[in-house]
Amino acid sequence: MRAIRDELLAFTDSPLYEYRKTNNYFPVAGEGSHEAKIVFIGEAPGKNEALTGRPFCGAAGRLLDELLASVGIDRKTVYITNIVKDRPPENRDPTLEEIAAYAPFLDRQLEIISPKIIATLGRFSMAYIMQKFYLATDRQSIGQIHGRQFKAESPFGEILIIPFYHPAAAIYSGATKEALRQDFQILGKLR
Ligand code: URA
Repeated sequence: MRAIRDELLAFTDSPLYEYRKTNNYFPVAGEGSHEAKIVFIGEAPGKNEALTGRPFCGAAGRLLDELLASVGIDRKTVYITNIVKDRPPENRDPTLEEIAAYAPFLDRQLEIISPKIIATLGRFSMAYIMQKFYLATDRQSIGQIHGRQFKAESPFGEILIIPFYHPAAAIYSGATKEALRQDFQILGKLR
């Protein structure tokens, strides 16, 4: 994990490196237990995250903390990361190129932690994880498959993948927030 952090700091070939340097931002590798049973994967760091180097420490993070607490999960016992480890300008969606550049770091983190459950937050990490584990859901949107449990084989054994809405989307939509709350109940039962 330390090597991954160091490599991210030294990742000058990244399409987001110049933007990071200009703004004195940090890469955000991830945070939490390296023996976690559940790994949460968001999209990319926002401004607060890039300024501190910590994932989900702004408004979306507060909602994530609240959701975790609502099902009795202590944030320290899980691992929280993103698919893209540097902040895209103005919080725009990550590009395919950026996802491809950072995915190998995520792959290595997953191998090290070897979680039983991968909880994706938002459509970008959902799309990446579903295709990585050969789950053919290409034509299914997050609206159709959020809160469902998908079994998959991984190099570290059988895992469960559960797609969730992104907490940032729930800040502006009561219906999305309610769906996220409901979906999180599953984690309370599985933890
Ligand atoms: N949104 C994300 O996807 N990740 C973060 O770390 C913060 C906000």
